[in-house]
This record gives sequence, structure tokens and C-alpha cells, in this order.
Amino acid sequence: MLGLMQDRPLLISSLIEHAVRYHPDVEIVSRTCEGPLINTNWRELAKRVARLAHALRRLGIKPGDRVASLAWNTHRHVELYFAVSGIGAVLNTVNPRLFPEQIDYIVNHAENRILFFDITFAGLVAGLRPKLATVEHVVALTDTGHLPREVEGAVAYEDLLAREPDAIDWPVFDERQASALCYTSGTTGNPKGVLYSHRSTLLHSFMVCTADGFRLSSADSVLLVVPLFHVNAWGIPYAAAMCGAKLVLPGPKLDGRSLFELAVEEVCTFSLGVPTVWLGFFKHIDDTPGLDVSKLKLERVVIGGSAAPRAIIERFRRDHGVFVLHAWGMSETSPVATIGNLLPAHRDLPEDDQIDIQAKQGRPVYGIDIKITGEDGSELPRDGSVSGDLKVRGPWVASGYFRGEGGNVLDAEGWFATGDVARIDAEGYVQLTDRSKDVIKSGGEWISSIDLENAAVGHPAVQEAAVIGLPHPKWQERPLLIVVRKPGAEASREELLDFLSERVAKWWLPDDVAFVDELPHTATGKLLKTKLREQFRSYTLPA
Ligand code: AMP
Repeated sequence: MLGLMQDRPLLISSLIEHAVRYHPDVEIVSRTCEGPLINTNWRELAKRVARLAHALRRLGIKPGDRVASLAWNTHRHVELYFAVSGIGAVLNTVNPRLFPEQIDYIVNHAENRILFFDITFAGLVAGLRPKLATVEHVVALTDTGHLPREVEGAVAYEDLLAREPDAIDWPVFDERQASALCYTSGTTGNPKGVLYSHRSTLLHSFMVCTADGFRLSSADSVLLVVPLFHVNAWGIPYAAAMCGAKLVLPGPKLDGRSLFELAVEEVCTFSLGVPTVWLGFFKHIDDTPGLDVSKLKLERVVIGGSAAPRAIIERFRRDHGVFVLHAWGMSETSPVATIGNLLPAHRDLPEDDQIDIQAKQGRPVYGIDIKITGEDGSELPRDGSVSGDLKVRGPWVASGYFRGEGGNVLDAEGWFATGDVARIDAEGYVQLTDRSKDVIKSGGEWISSIDLENAAVGHPAVQEAAVIGLPHPKWQERPLLIVVRKPGAEASREELLDFLSERVAKWWLPDDVAFVDELPHTATGKLLKTKLREQFRSYTLPA
């Protein structure tokens, strides 16, 4: 074995150890559910992480046990990230925006032994408590003074930590051990659990810090808008510890004004969130005459989870000098798989052409490989014009679901079928055109509902748009455009169809336009097309 490299396992505990040793004074700023902002740093956070780890052991948590959180982005939730995984247990971050029945299902399915919750969810937890058969302890993420009385037997997090030592020798174990568990948003059927390992988490973190990844570094102050309950907050808490970035956690306040103010006050350079969040952000800017936007120091914003509208990418760039990194991924890919950085060949392109490239979902980062296949499973060309089923493989792509649900999900060569339909261009950029179950099959050809939706929201009167396929006697399916108009805005069916006819192929034009007050969404803000299809089941397209 002489000469071989050391085989130190890649463990999450090494991230917090690194942060405390090399970036101890780097700030962590957190809004709390009690109200005030907490100012701490990696040194102090690491002490509390050690205390929490001791407390978890005192409560009987052993390696492999599951522990649930139902919480916003706060310093306490970040502490759970490092302490639970650090001792070899598994953190199951549950999305509080799910329906109570889904939360009940997840907590029982994961057999969580402790539930940590934010006081804003006390009512929800009180209602669920009798159904959570495996939960032995409920802990409110607060101090004694704010302990909600309605949750029977709840203890205060700060009391739990108070008497524990603030140093710990982290255990060393196999890096393939599970560290976290997230359930997919489940637009159909029960949510399925995706397990992350220490190894997959650290490899993903290295990628986040690369120059062609998110370029996260010690120079960054990160406004972490994407929730810690949404696929590990896109891996940022781990990567921030790896590179010593400053973390700014907005707690329960995700409105445009609160985010804008936090970004300015904490001199944030980098942020991440789904498109809806940025719509709220710009609405605040538009609704506040005289707002000094020159104080905004953001340099990069990651948008993912749903397609980043071109208009947002453009506005960030033109008005604020912010480069939008459009990223694609899913719970099963930890989540980041492709990122929309530009290549040197694009440097001299006109701004509009660069924005066109940014509006695609990006290209694979090292570690991830992608391909598209046709209906017979054979690989399709990477020429930017054909779309097919998007497949992905790599060391941070799930090989199956928790408890083996859904069986073996990889094919013989290790490819995972994402359920997304996409084009891949010659430079490797992915452009999502649909979910495979949402694609509209018209006369044997595919119409992209996403392309139509993107074109429709380009109309100034359109706030949100959805396109679904409806049965058609001749073409099998034809598109119906469903539109929510901006308050006070007018736009007729004919006007919208005229607008679209200049932007999409003639045979793609929706057969009709329906106007609604709102569209149904999942808990993570994605359009809930199953619900829409149900809603419009008896709708007849004009002959
Ligand atoms: P989830 O596992 O809940 O994070 O959902 C993953 C799904 O969200 C993907 O399979 C895509 O359908 C969708 N998605 C994620 N990022 C993007 C993006 N940048 N553009 C369009 N859809 C996206």
C-alpha cells in the first residue's frame, strides 16, 4: 500500500470542524421566529452544534435513526443539519407547506424519533401529534419563554442545549452512511424518500464551490432564500461551511421587502431561490418609489426549481448587474445537476444572445452526465433541436428510494430517468421542454407546454400561464392555454393568440384560452397540472 493517499472518509462533521478552525469569525445572521435577528458566527455555531449532538445522544438517538425538522431557515435549523448528521443519524427535513396528511405520512414513513419544530408550526404539530406514532420527543426551536403550550410534552430547544458540553469528538464512520432524507414533492401518489449520504453531500459541496459551479467562496455573503426543507437548501449550508461563506437566514419572512432589506443590510453577494420569490422581490422594488437599489450588492443569483423566466434574468442583469445562474436539478440529484454559466465562446455575444443562453437550464457540472433518449430508449442527438427523455447519472444521483419503494430506478448503465423532457445542444446546455407526463402529443409530434407558458408570460398582461393537453378527435391532444391576468390588466383570447403566433410554430398555437383567478401549485411552488387537468376535464375545445 506504500504511496497510496490516505483514505479519510468524507464526513459532514469535517465541514463544521473546518469552518470553526479556518473561518471562526465569519458571521451567520439569522432571523428567528420570535422576531429579532441573531448575529453569530461559525465558532459559536459549532459550539451549539456540539451541544445539540450531545443532547441527541442523551435522548437516545443512535446512528441511522431518523430525526425530523419542520422549520424555516434559521441558525437552529442549520445546527440540526450538522449535529444530526454529525453523530451518524439522519435528518429528515419535512416541508411544512405540505398538507397535514402528507406530513403525517412522511413522519410515520421515516419513523422519525424526534420532531424539532418552529413555533409558527405549533398549531400544525398539536394537531398531528397524536398520529405521530414513532415520535418520542417534540422539541420547539425556541427558548422557555416562547414555548408553545398547545403542543403537549414539548420541550424548548434552548433548554435542551443548556447543560451540554460545547465540544465533541465526532465519530468516524463509512462515508456511504445516510446523512439526510428528503421526500419528493409528489404531484402524484405518496411522496417518496430520497436518502443523501455523507459522500454524496461532500462531493456536491465541492461542486458548489467550483468556479464553473456556483463559485461559492469565503468572499460571499449568502442570502439563503431557498428553504432548508427543500432538497438541503440546494446544498448551501454544507458548501458554506466548506468555503467559509457568510450565511444570512431569513427565517419565516420571505416577502420581497424583508428579503430586499436583509440583502442590503448584510451586504449579500449571492442568493438562491425559486422564481416566485424573485417576482415578490421585484414587486417590492416596483411598489416602493424612491427605493435606493444602488445599495444592493448582489452579484449572482441562482434560480431553479422551476424555469427561470427570461424577464427575471434580464431584469437582474440590466437593472442590477446581477448574473442569474439558472440551475436544474431534482430531489434525486441532491439537487444540482446543471448550471447556466457562460463559456468563453459567449463572451463577445450581444447581451440578448447571452440572456438566451442563460434562459436554458445550464450544462452539466463535473460529476454529472446527461443524455436524452427517444421512446425506444435509444440516445438522441445533442443538436439543440430534438427533445427526448432526460436521463442523468453521477455520484450524487439517487440509486433508489427509501425502503426500496419503486424498486430499482437505475437502468443497467446507471442512468436515472428524470421524468423531464429536454433538448441538449452541441455545447451541452439543457433546455427543459416539459415533464414527460405534461408534454402535449399532437398528431405524433410533441408540443412543449413549458415553451408555450414562457411565451405567454412574455405578454405584459399575463401574470401566470399554464398549458395542458386536452383530448382532440383528430390530433389526439391539443393545447389549452390557461391564464391569470395581472390585476387590472386586460387581454382577450384573440390578443394573446396573436401575440403567441409571432413566437411559436403555427401548429403549436393553443386551440383556446381560458381565464382563471389563480392556478393550483404544489407546496414547492410548481404548477400542479394534475389538478388543472382535473379542473378542465369536461372543457371542450372549439371545433
Ligand atoms: P423537486 O424534486 O421537487 O425539486 O422537483 C424537481 C423537478 O423540478 C425537476 O424534475 C423539474 O421538472 C423541475 N425543475 C427543477 N429545476 C428546474 C428549472 N430550472 N427549470 C424548469 N424546471 C425545473
